[in-house]
Amino acid sequence: MRFDVLTLFPEMFSGYMSQSILSKAIEREQVSVHVHNIRDWTKDRHHKVDDRPFGGGPGMILMVEPVVNCVRDVQAMSEEPGLVILTTPQGKRLNQPLCEDLASDHKRFIVLCGRYEGFDQRVIDILQPMEISIGDYVLNGGEVASMVLVDSLVRLVPGVLGDDLSSWDDSFSRGNRILEYPQYTRPRTFEGHDVPEVLLSGDHGAIEAWRKAKSLENTKQKRSDLLE
Ligand code: SAM
Repeated sequence: MRFDVLTLFPEMFSGYMSQSILSKAIEREQVSVHVHNIRDWTKDRHHKVDDRPFGGGPGMILMVEPVVNCVRDVQAMSEEPGLVILTTPQGKRLNQPLCEDLASDHKRFIVLCGRYEGFDQRVIDILQPMEISIGDYVLNGGEVASMVLVDSLVRLVPGVLGDDLSSWDDSFSRGNRILEYPQYTRPRTFEGHDVPEVLLSGDHGAIEAWRKAKSLENTKQKRSDLLE
């Protein structure tokens, strides 16, 4: 899976890409992440990427020309055209089924990170991206949203997680669409709190049944909407 992230703040990605599951997936060439600075696609000597909104109002708007030129050049960097995604609070809400569809339908994602008051509408009219929101709140920029997107998709690339079943059984995932059961590890007892006996029994059928029941109980308590 290939990601091209288009941003005004490429430095934000270096720490994120050098850690844990993502860095290992990059090392194993299961995933690649290419970060591009939209400012490199400006033509004036001040490298201007934003301007005041026509009609007045607060803030600055990302200009159409550098953004569209950047996307077109980045698209041409690989034979796979890729799905263009624009991060915006106005987009389709990201959830696990959408992540699963994206991961199974596409091999390459070109992700646009907005800043300030967002993009000139013509970026959307011309590029026809998939507009994605990570939730009903407003971030300062699309970088964190694009990391959320990359993080959730990378887990779904076969072989990236130690055990591919993890992404099957996780909360919201294709295995059940409800919440996961509680998990325990050593020690068996801590401050009077014991690990449930059944998990130590070695009886796989009983463990499976306990997990199913707990998963349902967890979902009823915390997210009954998932059972509707
Ligand atoms: N003025 C825009 C509006 O009201 O729809 C919000 C712009 S926001 C301050 C700046 C950038 O942050 C957006 O262009 C987008 O890239 C990103 N962003 C903010 N909230 C987001 C969210 N919930 N999901 C995805 N991206 C978001």
